[in-house]
Amino acid sequence: MSGSPSLSSPGAPFHIMTKPIGPICNLDCEYCFYLEKEELYDKSGQAGKSKWAMDEALLEHYIRDYIASQPTAEITFAWQGGEPTLLGVEYFERVVELQDWYCPEGKTIHNAFQTNGTLVDEAWAEFFRDHGFLVGLSIDGPRELHDRYRVDKGGKGTFDKVVAAAELLKRYNVEFNTLTVVNRANAKHPREVYRFLRDIGSGFIQFIPLVERAPEQPSGPHSLKGPPQTEGLDGVVSPWSVGSQQWGDFLSGVWDEWIKADVGRVYVNLFDVQLGLWAGMPSSMCVFAEECGSAVAMEHNGDLYSCDHYVYPAYRLGNIQERSLGDMLRSEQQQAFGRDKRTSLPGQCQRCEYRFACHGECPKHRFLHDEQGEPGLNYLCQGYLKFFRHVEGDMRRMVDLLRQQQPPAMIMQIKAEERNRFRGVGPNEPCPCGSGRKFKRCHGRPGC
Ligand code: SF4
Ligand code: SF4
Repeated sequence: MSGSPSLSSPGAPFHIMTKPIGPICNLDCEYCFYLEKEELYDKSGQAGKSKWAMDEALLEHYIRDYIASQPTAEITFAWQGGEPTLLGVEYFERVVELQDWYCPEGKTIHNAFQTNGTLVDEAWAEFFRDHGFLVGLSIDGPRELHDRYRVDKGGKGTFDKVVAAAELLKRYNVEFNTLTVVNRANAKHPREVYRFLRDIGSGFIQFIPLVERAPEQPSGPHSLKGPPQTEGLDGVVSPWSVGSQQWGDFLSGVWDEWIKADVGRVYVNLFDVQLGLWAGMPSSMCVFAEECGSAVAMEHNGDLYSCDHYVYPAYRLGNIQERSLGDMLRSEQQQAFGRDKRTSLPGQCQRCEYRFACHGECPKHRFLHDEQGEPGLNYLCQGYLKFFRHVEGDMRRMVDLLRQQQPPAMIMQIKAEERNRFRGVGPNEPCPCGSGRKFKRCHGRPGC
């Protein structure tokens, strides 16, 4: 991407998703892709969840190496799982002590902590507040939608516990955002999901599409499948995966609700990144960036992988006890992983008018054939095309506002004025804007 430092340059920043308790989780979400990683590591013969905890010596090694490898003044650690709260508050008190010890003068350390919220109690809330942790809460929408897949080991819904965690975090003034997995069930209800997240006080809403290839040889819900391939079995996904068109409808539905009254007030990560892309800026979300490679994942034993979605033996870069983080990030293996996203783009994407905003999205989802039979088209392509067409008019007007140094939130006023101006115009009447086109083909188009 122009303007962003190349990972091959020494000292380029990178991001590590750290899994200090590996894949161990207290829930059994039907769609979780990470629970299968137990099979990757469950060979030690040790019992209990303690065998999954990153031990103190390794933790110290990691914290020291990560801080030393980051060239920026602000350093962010990202903790996730599995479920990191299973390690207990004391474990993270030690994390903070080690960070303080190794943090050089003039640098600031931040912590982002992704949790399912079910174990968050007053002690956790106090800890998060005292140490300025940013908490990411996984929640899929109102009760019936959240509980559809996010269940505990006994199959019981977890909605009440997650909402209680959100209330607790608010009470303790802990900054939190939400992560919503958009699946076959909640994708049908974009407005309800969005309003719910906004109303529970999520300051930063993140949506992730659930796309999972069905196991080629079924052997249980969490069988360890290989990395997603880019050919064969077109469109075969698990029953809980979001449909491609459904993803487009979901994003469009949320957009219509958000743009009515919430621009500049509620932060929807995907929309913000898209506005930046339409304005010619680089993407801060890897899925819309031209190349991958700067967001790696680290397992509890120090193994580093090319990406959180590629924790497979072929994508292991090494172990932090054997090689420095910087070396592994700058290795030819990781460079090639990053470049592949761009170089494997099929012809349809290369010719696509929205390539600047999509770049073929995540390679994990590229398992269709394009219009000319070339492999590597993204399963979500139709959905993204639908969404881009739906928001194009609004996006272009918001970019114009930015260029005039006006806040993009002015779009809400512009649209409200238009609604008044065009009220009562029939679909086949001339558009009042003077374009000479029928209203239904001009300002009366859906999404205009
Ligand atoms: S493979 Fe997908 S999730 Fe991983 S870095 Fe690339 S775009 Fe991001
Ligand atoms: S919208 Fe479809 S064709 Fe266009 S870049 Fe994205 S995946 Fe490729």
